[in-house]
This record gives sequence, C-alpha cells and structure tokens, in this order.
Amino acid sequence: MIELEGLTKHYGDKVAVEDLTLTVRPGIVTGFLGPNGAGKSTTMRMMLDLDNPTAGTVRIDGKHYRQLQDPLTYIGALLEAKSVHGGRSAANHLLCLAQSNGIPRSRVFEVLDTVGLSAVAKKRAKGFSLGMSQRLGIAAALLGDPQVLLFDEPVNGLDPEGIHWIRNLMKNLAAQGRTVFVSSHLMSEMALTAEHLIVIGQGRLMADTSMREFIHQNSRSYVRMRSPEREKLLDLLHSEGIDAVAAGNGSLEVDGVPADRLGELAAAHQLVLHELSPQHASLEEAFMQLTADSVEYHAHDGEPVPAQAGSPPGGRSPGAPQPAGARPGEPQPTGWGADWQKKRS
Ligand code: ADP
Ligand code: MG
Repeated sequence: MIELEGLTKHYGDKVAVEDLTLTVRPGIVTGFLGPNGAGKSTTMRMMLDLDNPTAGTVRIDGKHYRQLQDPLTYIGALLEAKSVHGGRSAANHLLCLAQSNGIPRSRVFEVLDTVGLSAVAKKRAKGFSLGMSQRLGIAAALLGDPQVLLFDEPVNGLDPEGIHWIRNLMKNLAAQGRTVFVSSHLMSEMALTAEHLIVIGQGRLMADTSMREFIHQNSRSYVRMRSPEREKLLDLLHSEGIDAVAAGNGSLEVDGVPADRLGELAAAHQLVLHELSPQHASLEEAFMQLTADSVEYHAHDGEPVPAQAGSPPGGRSPGAPQPAGARPGEPQPTGWGADWQKKRS
C-alpha cells in the first residue's frame, strides 16, 4: 500500500504537485492519469525518495522509503527505461542491483526469463531497443519480488505485442495481491488495464475512483438519430416528452431513452431513420471532459481558450500540437494544450 498525505512539490514558482492525499491499494492495478506535465513523474519520484517533497509525506506499507531496509524488496519501479549504464550487460545491470539489496544471484536469471530477455542477457544495454529497455527496467522492478510496483508510462513506444504483454503482467501482479501503480496519458490503454483511477491535472487531484464510476460520473451515454424528416421526428419526440438536442450533420442526440424505444417510436409513425446509434463515452472522452473542466477552473492564470458552451470540449487552436494518444481528427479539450500555450505566450 502507498499512502500520500498532502504531498506537494514546487520548483521555484512552478507548482508540479499540490497537496495530493490518496491511498494506492493492493490487489488491483491503479492507473495514474494526467496529461503531459500534470505531475505524474514528479509524484512517482517522491514516492521513491528521489525528490524531496516541498511538503507532505509518502509511506510505503507504513514506512518512509528511507526507513526500508533493502528497498528493492519492498518497492520496485520503472521510471526511465533508458537510465541504464549502457556499457553493462542486462545480467550485470541486474546483478549490481541485486548485490546492493541482498538479493540472490539466481533471481537475476529468473527475472530475465520472466521478461523474455534471457537470450540477450550478456548483451550490452546500449544496443537495446526501447522495447528491450522497457523489459529490462521491468526486470529490475521485479528483482526484489516486491509487494509494491510503480511503472511510469511503461507502454510508451512499445509495439502491440509488448503492450499486450505489459498489460497482462500488471494484471497478474495485482492478482497476486501486490500494489500496482501505473501512470499513463493513454486513456484507451488505461481502460483495458486499470480497475481504479487516480487523475491529476496541473499537480492537483481531480479524481480518485473506480474506472466504472469515473466513466459514469464524467461522461454521458446517448442515442444519435438522423432522419431526412428531422422536423417531424423532433415534433414526435417532443410530443412524447423526450428531449432531443440538435447536433452536427443534422443529427439529434437523445439522453436517457434506449435506442430500441426510439426506433420503435419512429417505426410506429413511419418515419425514415438514416441513423439510430447508441453512443457510449469512452474513458478517453470522460478524461477529456474532466480536463476541460479543470481548464475552466484555471482560466485566470493560464489563458487557455474556454470550450464553447453547448459544444463538445474542443477549441484547439489551428496548428496546435495533437496530444500524444489522441486520434486524428478527434476534438481535443483545451486542457491538453494549456501547458503548450503557456510556454508559447
Ligand atoms: P508528467 O510526468 O505528468 O508529464 P512531470 O512530473 O514530469 O509531469 O512534471 C510536472 C511539472 O513539473 C511540469 O510542468 C514540469 O515541467 C515540471 N518539472 C518537473 N521536473 C522539474 C524540475 N526538475 N525542475 C523544474 N520543473 C520541473
Ligand atoms: Mg512523466
């Protein structure tokens, strides 16, 4: 278990992490979400005592990191895959870590096998691809067979097979009763991996909830309808006491009424439909919604462009960079661009 209390980190005037109080529990994968620059890596560094908090505390199973004897046997972490001495072989890199933490030599070969690097155990790390380096970093995290594991953006730059492997590894580690805390800015990935979510934006806690609850609270499900007889359809819906909102492309969006009922209603009145599609918000959309709100909250100090009322969170200025993990052409919340806009101004 990891417990943060009032954890805060300022770099001069810059607030990287602000007053985070939360508990990361064992037995499940907890996703740590936030756009780039939200403070995820800084939080993880403080968990590992690599950065001193400006205020607040971190406890690992009730203890401060520096009170842990042979810390790799309590908490393992992958922060930077490439932060390995390139001249050392994979096996030697792990052996150095093992010897300084009272871990037997045989464990090095066990974890190399777990991550699929046995065949390149004697190869120097500097020749490793990003995917191999990620695997070596995970081997290091697993070395002390710790109950608590941290992974900072572990799937960045991996191929689909690697992503699939890491996802299953994390779930298995959690199923063994371990505490697994994994950061990402990739919503779609988290939706498949994490059971619990902690979301931060600009260093502050924005959500600490189950995945299911997060989607439920921050998004909506609705039915999209399109008809060449749009006005008739609108009249029909109103006469049934059903609210419909006009959306793009001449379509209507209806909340709270199942698609089946809407289809039967249209059929009973012989109205032609060109579309009748239930829309469920994905985690990505839920997250964008949440981030857009946070931008409004911070509007006085960041000069972001507020989302227009009645439109989905969007308003990305032309030419603004597409955030990593976004699908092309998808509307983006202003929150993603806020850091960039600040740097630019
Ligand atoms: P994330 O991992 O969520 O992308 P980080 O924790 O890396 O975010 O960064 C949070 C904020 O703190 C960013 O605005 C970043 O520029 C700033 N920051 C991080 N490390 C330092 C540092 N050593 N000195 C100054 N600012 C930093
Ligand atoms: Mg980071």
